[in-house]
This record gives sequence, structure tokens and C-alpha cells, in this order.
Amino acid sequence: MERDITKRLLHWYRKEGRDLPWRRTSDPYAIWVSEIMLQQTQVATVIPYYEKFMATFPTTADLAHAPLGTVLKVWEGLGYYARARNLQKAARIISGQYNGEMPDDIETLTSLHGIGRSTAGAIISIAYGKKAPILDGNVRRVLCRLFAIRQNPSLAPVQKKLWNISERLVPEKNPRCFNQALMDLGAMICAPKNPDCTACCLRSLCLAYSKGLQKTLPVKSPGRKVPHYHIAAGVIWRGGKILITQRPAEGLLGGLWEFPGGKLKEGENPIQAAAREILEELNVTASVGDLISTVRHAYSHFHITLHAFHCRYVKGPLKTTHPYRWVSPEELSHYAFPSANRKIITVLKKGDLTPISFLL
Ligand code: SF4
Repeated sequence: MERDITKRLLHWYRKEGRDLPWRRTSDPYAIWVSEIMLQQTQVATVIPYYEKFMATFPTTADLAHAPLGTVLKVWEGLGYYARARNLQKAARIISGQYNGEMPDDIETLTSLHGIGRSTAGAIISIAYGKKAPILDGNVRRVLCRLFAIRQNPSLAPVQKKLWNISERLVPEKNPRCFNQALMDLGAMICAPKNPDCTACCLRSLCLAYSKGLQKTLPVKSPGRKVPHYHIAAGVIWRGGKILITQRPAEGLLGGLWEFPGGKLKEGENPIQAAAREILEELNVTASVGDLISTVRHAYSHFHITLHAFHCRYVKGPLKTTHPYRWVSPEELSHYAFPSANRKIITVLKKGDLTPISFLL
């Protein structure tokens, strides 16, 4: 059965495989960048980011030597910013320790920041043409269905089983096309909700299809309730400039800039929370004025509603442990902001950017 699967997939891929920008190269750096961008992100979203990233940082050395702010700016809007920070950390190691050459073995690759076994397998097979299995989300789903695996694939023993299957399937000859075929089948045919089994080249071999289980596999983890937070933030004006602060380099949205603020405490309204957060975070008193906008944003593990207000600096020597800048409204576009803050900037740009009362 395994040999049949491999043969049919390769045949299907030759006719139906996707033509993607990172498939027109065998540059391991480009393939690495694309694989990192594709984690938790759709192909259509990735393409323009990939093209801009490669035009800005065409080699590992360019990425290694760029300021982190520039890397985050190019990544702005793609989310999961740890991916960008890890790419740069790994690029610095490749530049410093490997003469700018991407390593070509799994062990060294997986020792680098942000490269797991599946990403390493993709780089090894796609860029170097060496046999190496992959197991990203698409592949996991296809294998669970093909082999009718009824246990939760996030459990360690099930993962081990899936890795073994992927390893057995990938051929010595042409592992590049085979792994790309598996990815494409998962993305185009064996989709999460409605697998198009009638168009699938593996239908007659698929155990889930033969048992009518294609829509119930893979088994899902029990759902978690996603917390929702209300955040208040202030666009603090002083003499025509706006205060922005930078988040710590590590952690959620690390290294990005934002308007100061934080979570509402119990019993507080957004205006009170904005004034308190500004005082606590910056040691300054600000008067909180008009609401600019209320925006919602979904992160992977929680959702937020952000209430952003025009604020005016009143008094107090500014003291904060975070880097900060007073910038003109035009200069906001030079900095990388999280998506919710970016939505606030869009609203600001549509309206009167510098309300007269806040310039006085
Ligand atoms: S037959 Fe259906 S469930 Fe099975 S691999 Fe193909 S698309 Fe997926």
C-alpha cells in the first residue's frame, strides 16, 4: 500500500502540484523562510510577505545584519512574531558559525531557533533532495485519514506512529516532490472540513474513506474556552507628537511598538483604565479624551477588545523601563505595531490626525 501511495501522489503532483514562488528555487534559505511563514498561515497570505521578505533580505547575511525593527516591520501583520525573531537569531548563527551556508542535516538544523523536525525535514528534502519525512498540520491530517488513525494525533505515541508512517512513505528518489505533494493534497483536496474525496488520487487506498470516517478524522483535542480581555490604550499627544513604547524583546508581540495601555481591572471603565495604566507604566498624568475606536482582535490563545483614546500629556517626568519615542503621526509608519494598534492607526489616518485641542 505504501509504495502505491507514493507512486500515485507523485503522479498527481506532476499534473496538479501548485506553482508557488518558493518552489521556483532550491535555495535552502528561501525554502526555510517559506516554511516558517507557512506555519499557522495560509499560502495566499504568505505569498506577498515572502516576496517582500526575500526582496529585503535576499540572503542569510542580509537577515543576520538587519536591525530587528526592520525585520519586524517587514513581518508586520503576519502574526506570531516569535517566528521572525527566531529566523533572525538562527540567521546570525548560520552567518557566524556556518559561513552563511544552511546546514544540511536534521540534527544541526533542529538545534537552530524556531526549526522543528518537520521544518528541518522540509528543508532537507526540498532544498537538498535528501530523504527526510515531514509532519506539518496538513500531512498529519492526510495520514490520520489514509490510515484511519482514531487516536488524538497530538498525543506523543500517536505522533511517533505518524512520523514512522511519513518516514516509510517518503522515497529515496524525489523526496522533494513527494513531500510537496503531501502538503498540496492536504491543502487542496484533503481539506480540514470538507475533503474532496471524489477528486482524490488516494481514494481507493484510503481507510477513512472506505469506512466513511473522512469527516470525523483526525480526532480533535477537547476544545478550550478562549479568554477575552478588554484593553484600554492611550494615544498620548504632546506638541503634535505621539508617545509610543516598545514591548520587551521576548514574549508575545516581542519587539513591536504600541500605544501605552493595559487590561481593565474589575469595576473599571476603559477611560479609568487608560489613565491608570499610563500613570503606572509611564509615571505621567494624562487627560483621557475622545474615543478613537474600539477594535477587536483574535490571537491564538485569547481575544481582545481594544479601546483607544486620544490623551493629552498633563504632567510628570516620564519614567519607564521600556524604550519609548515621541513621534510625529507620519513617523508611525516607520515602526512595526501589532495588528490591533495598526487598526487604530488606520482610524487615526482616516480622521483628523492631530485634534487641535491636543496640540495646545
Ligand atoms: S480519500 Fe478523502 S479522506 Fe482519504 S486522503 Fe483522499 S481526500 Fe483525504
